Amino acid sequence: MSTEIHKGITIKSENEIGQMSQAGKIVAMTQVVLANALRIGISTLELDKIAEKEIRNHGAIPSFKGYMGFPSSICTSINNEIVHGIPSKRKIQNGDVLSIDVGAIYNGYHSDSAFTIGIGDITDKTKKLISDTKNALKIGINAAKNSARVGDIGSSIQKYGDKLNYGIVKQYVGHGIGRNLHEEPQVPNYGSEGKGVELKSGMAIAIEPMFNLGSWETKVLDDEWTVVTSDGSISAHFEDTIIITNDGSRVLSEIPEKKNIPIQKIN
Ligand code: MG
Ligand code: MG
Repeated sequence: MSTEIHKGITIKSENEIGQMSQAGKIVAMTQVVLANALRIGISTLELDKIAEKEIRNHGAIPSFKGYMGFPSSICTSINNEIVHGIPSKRKIQNGDVLSIDVGAIYNGYHSDSAFTIGIGDITDKTKKLISDTKNALKIGINAAKNSARVGDIGSSIQKYGDKLNYGIVKQYVGHGIGRNLHEEPQVPNYGSEGKGVELKSGMAIAIEPMFNLGSWETKVLDDEWTVVTSDGSISAHFEDTIIITNDGSRVLSEIPEKKNIPIQKIN
């Protein structure tokens, strides 16, 4: 069965949406397991192992492992790291801000989702950054519906982030998703209302705001993966995979337990 394509963007069939929903559930379950395992002293490599085991136990494959040569199953980005951090022996310390990005392929279909959590003593400013970035994702998701434009999503996130004076990352963007981790269209966290590609029911996209306490500018570390804020400021990142429906959208990378993942974990 061939996938329907609308202006270069794949429209998923009911069957494809079913596979992606399953991938989304596996991603969400893995995120819940990771949030529960998280504690001061655990290394990001240990978290990576827990995630890979969980994803494979559900009959899925980690999306990121081997993607363009990425060495791990999840991305773990700490403090000034925005995205694409590589799990290592580095141990989580009191006061760290950790973003975990998880992707899974089920029966050939991807789902992609990220969350950020503060560990132990974090400042009120940092806590607010995390909760505001989480809220920005919700705002972006609410702007996504049949006949809306990609620019409606970006502009709603940008307006919110600008009002709160955050640096909004521009170099890395959300994306279409399906048989491939990254498909058309690009979904930036900035834009103009009514502009950009028109969204249609059956399109699947990952929306992923990244807000910084300082500048929006980024740089890539020598490992050629880890993206950090150029000024060293703290960053937060939330992402969900959604399917566009006639009356709005449905979050695929969600299970009820995921709502209990806190923005700060004290233990
Ligand atoms: Mg992701
Ligand atoms: Mg993504």
